[in-house]
Amino acid sequence: MEKEKVTMEKVESLAKRRGFIYRGSEIYGGLAGTWDYGPLGVALKKNVKDMWWKRFVEDRSDMYGVDAAILMNSRVWEAAGHVATFTDPLVECEKCKKRFRADQVDGGACPDCKGKLGQERQFNMMFKTSAGAVEDSSSTVYLRPETAQGMFVNFKNIVDSFHPRMPFGLGQIGKAFRNEITPRDFIFRTREFEQMEIEYFVKPEDWKEHFEYWREQMTEWMKDIGLREQDIHELEVPSEDLAHYSKRTIDFEFDFPFGRKELYGIAYRTDFDLANHQKESTVSLEYIDEAEKQKFIPHVIEPTFGLDRTILSILCTSYDEEAVDGEVRSVLRLPKHLAPIKVAILPLSKKEELSVVAKPIFDTLKKEFVCQYDETQSIGKRYRRQDEIGTPYCITVDFETINDHAVTVRDRDTMKQDRVAIEKLPEYLREKMK
Ligand code: ATP
Repeated sequence: MEKEKVTMEKVESLAKRRGFIYRGSEIYGGLAGTWDYGPLGVALKKNVKDMWWKRFVEDRSDMYGVDAAILMNSRVWEAAGHVATFTDPLVECEKCKKRFRADQVDGGACPDCKGKLGQERQFNMMFKTSAGAVEDSSSTVYLRPETAQGMFVNFKNIVDSFHPRMPFGLGQIGKAFRNEITPRDFIFRTREFEQMEIEYFVKPEDWKEHFEYWREQMTEWMKDIGLREQDIHELEVPSEDLAHYSKRTIDFEFDFPFGRKELYGIAYRTDFDLANHQKESTVSLEYIDEAEKQKFIPHVIEPTFGLDRTILSILCTSYDEEAVDGEVRSVLRLPKHLAPIKVAILPLSKKEELSVVAKPIFDTLKKEFVCQYDETQSIGKRYRRQDEIGTPYCITVDFETINDHAVTVRDRDTMKQDRVAIEKLPEYLREKMK
């Protein structure tokens, strides 16, 4: 639908109403920067993660999956430069004491009360906690602010156990934590989020070619999760804005309802991380190329995909409204392969004569498709619900079914209905789901 009609209020309200995403700790008034995924949100997120993992890890012989611990030795973050430089510029209003990210406020005035803003200072975004029974500086640990370092510290393990040939990469999906000064825009900027990241190790002289390759892979991925080409924009990050580890970064920006903002990024991290870890840990992280009799620290291309921002971009792209019989129908036109529920089985009434036919249909189809059986409320309300959660097909079992052994299959997008023989259903749906 036209972009202007998709507002964050609508997307957020649907996500809550239909059980995708709730405010974190809601009954206690919430906790800023946290969100809880409900049953349908979990399912949507799982479909995205499974698709990503299959494409970038399982289907490739040059990729290795890892799942590193969230708590890591704090020396990791010293070596990686995060203790010193993983900061955002912070300003505080002298009047109302609210804090803001300096690069997100215009002029010298507080966006809330127009009070005078104080001196800018650097604020480290890592969450600190302590491990063990004694709380002193030696027990300090950080919750990881990116999944990347969990892969760098496992580089040697992978080389030693799998002897991969260069180039190769590690992939990881997991939580990251950042004490964002101003979490905002629903699940766009949160303090706890999930990342899907790749660290791809290459020979130093080949980095440009691999950068281009992964840039294309990321574009393909965005197309395959249903994002529209016109909503995606590449931004070459100017050298003065590059992160401390990067020689080149391209941000993939997406047109969210609240503006054009970073969705993903691809960075050339050079040998920054491995070289620093080698120095700090005194463990050699050189790669030995037996064939070419070379020994070197690999360079790294890092494609990074924020999972929560992926979910938000999918919800914003899929949300649609149309007028049907004088009423507004809202519908999530999710790509079928990502829809949490593929088929809903809806007997017209709760009467046993219908459930004896409908239940076996559910039992057969659930072996192949994620199905939902729903016999509550009026059929109109049930269609509205399935439309709003993006279910591609609704099967209605009516009193005719008892005689003709056929059901009505309703298409989410066109609302067209087909009469299909029960025994033909798996074949019919398989074809439609392609
Ligand atoms: P931003 O400039 O928006 O703060 P960033 O450049 O710091 O993001 P990266 O460090 O490149 O982000 O993190 C990689 C990816 O992780 C981002 O592209 C984004 O998808 C996701 N991400 C980063 N910070 C957050 C956050 N606070 N909430 C949700 N997702 C995030």
